[in-house]
Amino acid sequence: MTDKPRSHGRLSISASLTPRDLMDAPARLKGAWTAKVVTLFPEAFPGVLGLSLTGKALEEGLWSLETVDLRTFGKGKHKNVDDTPAGGGAGMVLRPDVMGAALDQAQAGTPSDRARWPVIYLSPRGRPFTQETAKRLSQADGVTLICGRFEGLDERVLEEYAVEEVSLGDFVLTGGEIAAQALIDSAVRLIPRVLGNQVSTEDESFSDGLLEHPQYTRPAVWKGRAIPDILLSGHHAKIADWRRAMAERLTKERRPDLWRAYCERHGRDPDGDQEL
Ligand code: SAH
Repeated sequence: MTDKPRSHGRLSISASLTPRDLMDAPARLKGAWTAKVVTLFPEAFPGVLGLSLTGKALEEGLWSLETVDLRTFGKGKHKNVDDTPAGGGAGMVLRPDVMGAALDQAQAGTPSDRARWPVIYLSPRGRPFTQETAKRLSQADGVTLICGRFEGLDERVLEEYAVEEVSLGDFVLTGGEIAAQALIDSAVRLIPRVLGNQVSTEDESFSDGLLEHPQYTRPAVWKGRAIPDILLSGHHAKIADWRRAMAERLTKERRPDLWRAYCERHGRDPDGDQEL
């Protein structure tokens, strides 16, 4: 009944270690950052996480992914995982005993301290997912994610396992799998060495509470539209000033909520003039 979790990625050290790898090896041996995902659709993983930088990092063992197939814990001949909602109403609810058994397997060998190993139910009722959350998760040892389906999950599981609810936004998905992949992606890219160029996470959107400035690349003129002169000037200080001013302007226009918080942190008047 308790299938071994499917494991993606590999934690073992490959035979072709370079001196640089050896230097980093102790950190890797201690156990890579791990995402455990309880889902009715393990075949949805690694999905997009298997591609590009997150996929390469998964292959290199910089993080690892395990799925726990909820179906294998189902009841009876048909391996039922859900039942009708108590009190009536449409749809089906995931059973607490089935999810509980799956979680017991997922949690085996993980720290019980939720700060070191958060257990998260992806849910539209949850606290909105932000870059802060991504950072917190990436600094933990790993995370267990519960993907809901149908009308969701029996409330008692959330209480019994001290589960945190996290939402991707104010909309309703059919299941938690896409949300889980989004959450894992944003956490994994903050793990050191996953992105080639670490600096790039430092001036991205949200890192200083601002949206990112506009980006341009060659050709210098395209369909009659030129790259702003300043970016081609080679004057680094002026470029940095321009980027900050653009980031502030965009944030003020598009996200008054972020803009107010930013001004508060920097002792600025949200209605004051911008330096552009
Ligand atoms: N009846 C529920 C919605 C269930 S949607 C309600 O009204 O709150 C089915 C599953 O999709 C959920 O259990 C959850 O795991 C996932 N899901 C849906 N919307 C989501 C969102 N905005 N963020 C994260 N997960 C979501």
